[in-house]
Amino acid sequence: MVARREFRWWPCLLVAFALLTAEPSRACAQTPVDSALLSYINTIRAIDVHAHPMRPVPPGAPADTEFDALPLDGIPPFGVPHRLSLDDPIWRTAQDALFHAPTAVNDSIYRVGLRAAVEATRREHAQHFPEWALDAVRTDVMLANRIAMGAGLASPRFRWVPFADPLMYPLDTRGEAARTPDTRALYPKEAALLRRYLRELRMTKLPSTLDTYARTIVRPTLERWRSGGAVGIKLEAAYLRPLDFDDPDPAAARAIYARYVAGGVPSRAEYKTLEDYLVRVIAKDAGTLGLSIQIHTLETFGGYYRSAGAAPHLLEPLVNDSTLRATKFVIVHGGWPLVGETSGLLSKPNVYADISMMDILLPPHQLAAVLRQWLGEWPDKVLFGSDAFDGGAEQGWEQVAWVGSNTARRALAMALTGMLRDGEINRPRAEELARMVMRQNALAVYDLGMR
Ligand SMILES: [Zn+2]
Repeated sequence: MVARREFRWWPCLLVAFALLTAEPSRACAQTPVDSALLSYINTIRAIDVHAHPMRPVPPGAPADTEFDALPLDGIPPFGVPHRLSLDDPIWRTAQDALFHAPTAVNDSIYRVGLRAAVEATRREHAQHFPEWALDAVRTDVMLANRIAMGAGLASPRFRWVPFADPLMYPLDTRGEAARTPDTRALYPKEAALLRRYLRELRMTKLPSTLDTYARTIVRPTLERWRSGGAVGIKLEAAYLRPLDFDDPDPAAARAIYARYVAGGVPSRAEYKTLEDYLVRVIAKDAGTLGLSIQIHTLETFGGYYRSAGAAPHLLEPLVNDSTLRATKFVIVHGGWPLVGETSGLLSKPNVYADISMMDILLPPHQLAAVLRQWLGEWPDKVLFGSDAFDGGAEQGWEQVAWVGSNTARRALAMALTGMLRDGEINRPRAEELARMVMRQNALAVYDLGMR
């Protein structure tokens, strides 16, 4: 299998290598790249604003399970875009770059060699493996979207972005969970996480009024995260419900909370009113505490995921709330594929977009087209991210980070080359735009205490 794949792909792999270092070959590359610009972009120490790095776990220790609030291994089987599958040659390129696994006569022998190489590298770097991975992909700082941080993921290289969704679901979620086979598996995870947040505040039960819940649970949880080093919070709501957070009647939200806090299952309409209210409480507190809000906005994942519920424009009532202008919102994953809708939201002074996951799903030329559109209009609103997650030895988070970093840099070089050649920008401005996307814009959105 490897031999056949190598036979099929080796010309393009050779060209891919050449493209990383020099002018494109006419054989496989359609999009021109200014080699000096690409070389410059490859020197930038990036800030990756969205990822799920793993704690290094010593042999025999329990596995790290805190890398995501809603891990998708519990939902029914679903498809993933092709570039995420191991059939795509980009993964072999990442593995070769990071681990130099020996070539093999077939796939299974290659995999054995790869696992050994990954294990040897992990052993060699032990608690410093995550930092080694950042250096290998030229990332200076990675924002870690995790339930908790821990050994090996320390500041300043790793910064924390915890999950705020559970705070929106204080009541019985069985009615919400019944939406789809996906949500039946996901809502109980939110309920368990809310119980953990309560325990961490040394609370045993919910207060009887919504205002007290906001004051004694929501606000102290965000304060605890901030003092624990958090620089933002994440909402994964699109896995659970549509992103249409309307402006609710606070009195109705208070009445719904009071009616069901001691028991009973709210209707969908009632729960939506409460969630729409609480997301604003969370957003306002986040703004006053200097925590930016990341919102998963993407066409997928899940066999019953509602793509239409993740359309960026659904967020307009929330980001147009005039009382939330002190809160920064980041359209995580850029709202792909509805990048025009994202562009519309970037006109708001407090809305940004990152290209995390887009630089995993999309080949560079396709991402370059998006970047060129956004950079033409909102150059200070576009942030690099990878969404590096762990998929095992053959798709470890460090490999995903490599694919994201290299795809993003190449796509950025393609977009800026086009703008240069069309006379839209000069070379100093091209380099400035590259620094902005890979690093500087993140510093305007997240309080990282650095320049
Ligand atoms: Zn993510």
